[in-house]
Amino acid sequence: MRFSRMLIPTTKETPNDAVLASHKLLLRAGFIQFVGGAGLYNFLPLGKITLDKVRAVVKEELDKAGCNEVHLPIVTPLSLWEETGRADKFGKELLRFKDRHENSFTLSPTNEEAMVNLVRQTVKSYKQLPLNVYQINWKFRDEVRPRFGLMRGREFLMKDAYSFHATTEDMQREFDLMEQTYKKIFTRLGLEFKVVEADSGAIGGAGSKEFMILADSGEDTIMVCDACDFGANVEVIAEDETNCPKCGGNLSQTKGIEAGHIFQLGTTYSEPMKAEFLNENQKLEPFVMGTYGIGVSRLLAGIIEQNHDDKGCVWTKASAPYNVDIIVAKAKNEEQMEVAEKLYSELQAKGVDVLLDDRADKKTGFGVKMKDFELIGMNYAVVIGNDISEGKVELITRKDLSKESVALENIVDVLIEKLR
Ligand code: ATP
Ligand code: MG
Repeated sequence: MRFSRMLIPTTKETPNDAVLASHKLLLRAGFIQFVGGAGLYNFLPLGKITLDKVRAVVKEELDKAGCNEVHLPIVTPLSLWEETGRADKFGKELLRFKDRHENSFTLSPTNEEAMVNLVRQTVKSYKQLPLNVYQINWKFRDEVRPRFGLMRGREFLMKDAYSFHATTEDMQREFDLMEQTYKKIFTRLGLEFKVVEADSGAIGGAGSKEFMILADSGEDTIMVCDACDFGANVEVIAEDETNCPKCGGNLSQTKGIEAGHIFQLGTTYSEPMKAEFLNENQKLEPFVMGTYGIGVSRLLAGIIEQNHDDKGCVWTKASAPYNVDIIVAKAKNEEQMEVAEKLYSELQAKGVDVLLDDRADKKTGFGVKMKDFELIGMNYAVVIGNDISEGKVELITRKDLSKESVALENIVDVLIEKLR
């Protein structure tokens, strides 16, 4: 894309209600825009591109693990929620409304009931099991305190998966597979994270684990062992506990952002909803279930909480809206523009996500382009300036803002190597 053609409203002003770095920076760098109602944001072009990139990583890994993508309506009949008794239990977070015929509906905050309803109509025999069905779709929760931008919105993008099994053992096998799959997703996204034992809350069921992005600004307090991989949310372990229940090592306290949650559900939903299959002995049994969530839009905030500096965002390679920003120092200089255009096409041909900062108006000099590069946080900038006369360009790494002079003829290979 060309910067001159894109809607990227970067600003110096820090929104006064924003506390978290991710909230401030995503607004300032033009990724998102506040709509007006608490917890509602427009995703501007950069935000949409980034969200789609993160979403694609989630989808790829789930598909590799054998999950089926579907798409459910955001509007769910309240009657489904009444079948499990959650219409009452979920409280005010569940937004309810009526249509013109006085039928009651909800905006889905999660979709256990709706997915059980999908499967009970289509899966009748143990031969069709196991099955893992997911969607990546918008959720609405009328949160008591929507805040921190994408971190706790009212409308947010969630990947929600539900698995169906003939036995508890098979559900536990899938639960482990999902834990491994989530680890791949978080690793690919370049995140530092911890898997912790967690409370099952309003969703219900037996075992559950949370995926915590490690960041001081996290709302969750977690206990981690310094000797083994044990970790737990303080909700399930005494805060003054100092010894690891697994290996006896030292426990220490740290902060995390909950980005994913996996649950062993059992028959909590299938029983009341009469979702049953015929087992090997031709007897009806309720499905044994697991459920697995990832806060896809929250991930954007989490990535920035972990990766930013005083100048702006520092996206990881897998999440950056563009990996390379070509900065034309003087866009009015024909030679610079020509070199930049050629590099832009070459990188595109090699499949690199590249932005060409070709802005040529008086107000947008080299300084402004550099500031925008730092604020937006793409991985690398290539500055096309005066040194092209010596066959050189400047390569800037966003993470540490280090600069190196690279021969123009080598820059494509150098970038491809760095982005590998
Ligand atoms: P929290 O404790 O932060 O409210 P939760 O336990 O209610 O989260 P789940 O019901 O497990 O969350 O939802 C699955 C995932 O959806 C969470 O792990 C989180 O990443 C994301 N999520 C939940 N609520 C929000 C929200 N209000 N805004 C953005 N993402 C959210
Ligand atoms: Mg919640």
